[in-house]
Amino acid sequence: MDPAISALCERYRVDRRVVDFVSGEHGHYVDGERLAVTGETLDVGEPSTGRLLTRIASGTAADIDAAVTAARRALTTGAWAVMRPNERQRVLLSLADLIERDARVIAEIETLDNGKALGPCIEMDVLGGADLLRYMAGFATRIEGATREVSAPGEHVAMTLREPVGVVAAIVPWNWPFNMAMWKIAAPLAAGCTIVLKPAQQTSLSMLYFTRLCEEAGLPPGVLNVVVGRGGVIGDALAGHPGVSKVSFTGSTPVGRQVGAAAGRALSPVTLELGGKSPMIAFADADLAALAESTRFSVFFNAGQVCSAGSRLYVHRSRFDEAVEFLVRVARSLRLRPGLDPECDMGPVVSAGQRDSILRYFDAGREEGAGFACGGDAPAGEGYFVKPTVMTASDNRLRVVQEEIFGPALVVLPFDDEDEALALANDNEYALAGSVWTKDLDRALRCVRRLEAGSVWVNAHDLVDSAMPFGGFKSSGFGKDMGPEQLAHFLRTKAVWFQVGAGEG
Ligand code: NAP
Ligand code: MG
Repeated sequence: MDPAISALCERYRVDRRVVDFVSGEHGHYVDGERLAVTGETLDVGEPSTGRLLTRIASGTAADIDAAVTAARRALTTGAWAVMRPNERQRVLLSLADLIERDARVIAEIETLDNGKALGPCIEMDVLGGADLLRYMAGFATRIEGATREVSAPGEHVAMTLREPVGVVAAIVPWNWPFNMAMWKIAAPLAAGCTIVLKPAQQTSLSMLYFTRLCEEAGLPPGVLNVVVGRGGVIGDALAGHPGVSKVSFTGSTPVGRQVGAAAGRALSPVTLELGGKSPMIAFADADLAALAESTRFSVFFNAGQVCSAGSRLYVHRSRFDEAVEFLVRVARSLRLRPGLDPECDMGPVVSAGQRDSILRYFDAGREEGAGFACGGDAPAGEGYFVKPTVMTASDNRLRVVQEEIFGPALVVLPFDDEDEALALANDNEYALAGSVWTKDLDRALRCVRRLEAGSVWVNAHDLVDSAMPFGGFKSSGFGKDMGPEQLAHFLRTKAVWFQVGAGEG
């Protein structure tokens, strides 16, 4: 292990199991086997030091073939194929218990790999994942078809059967490696599907650790396979694989378009959870102090690497200066530390590439005439830190207003009336989420209807729950994760007819 990372682990008393785990090289997990690393490997960095943490295998199309074959076999033969719904439920519930038991271990792995703050990682990423497994476990015993009264000539009994859709290809991003993976696997497991999961190349470790818990919980081999490596190579091979029956992707819009095209060629249904540039609209009667306070979570949380982050704020012109003042106060109060530090409010971003991309947006903002009320650069020193940034603008067409920066950055713009606020908010290619801040209920209800967004919050931003469907419109994709809506993506409907004979009587 790199000495700087060893020192970090010692300083923050990282669990010995975590140090041992991340120190090794990591290969794929296919058909219940942890495969040795052969051939090309990929470097994995530790974001608070910028040092090399470990290496992972760089998978090939042949690895994807092997994983899809294993998943297909587990779907149709073996223990999973004949497992009763209540046993499947029990496996999911015990997986949730094991996640809870190892929450800190998983979160420490995640923090070393991704950079995020440890405390929230335990609470939200890891325990949130366990909560979703429990929620979806409930559906395992509640999958229902229907009987129908048909008008076709003759006498019939007609019914529908709901079956697992088949092998699911799940591709996840690096911003919530463990949590997004739980979003991808909980529902298909409840439905009885099998899965090939591809984590992001920067952040594969927490899911590789998770495979140990799968074994402990009694998940049969081949039900969950994890293939690691480059998206352009294995992600593409997976999304377009003829042995896959459903593709579930979370990531950026450009890659989502490619994944959708690959799935389309294979005629696999697809769910795409893509990027966002989610507006917050604050009317003249809004509680601006509460709004500003909420940006700790809704804008700066996870160093702003949140798909549904409230990254554009439209404020009624009468309160614009006041809003900026509140926001700057919050942004300046955030302590930038390594994610393992208990005093960390905001960790580094995931990689040098991500930091540089954010800084390029700040440069673009300066060139286009945006104002910087605070931040706008990176602090001196090691690691991929970016200062919490509040920009101001009056032109909705600026790149920093239109494009997803995916960093700790908020741009604030003024408006004069409700129609204008909604027009500005809806004038964007994305439609993932949005929020309305007002005490006027009629206004809130009007805005909820008119805002183009998959989730809308009133006097809050970025609430999520296992029971509530999450997913966007327009270039933010289609389909939902979580809630009963997600389960439906992993079931297919078979129409079954019995012809009733005339009989003897
Ligand atoms: P990304 O670059 O699109 O990557 C997402 C995943 O796709 C990674 O596993 C990546 O592998 C893989 N991939 C790359 N090229 C591929 C290809 N040609 N075919 C198939 N898979 C491919 O996204 P990211 O940078 O990791 O994550 C940030 C983005 O995710 C943001 O846009 C954010 O808004 C979005 N996001 C959306 C949601 C939501 O629920 N709507 C939630 C979280 C994040 P590699 O790692 O090897 O490149
Ligand atoms: Mg990393």
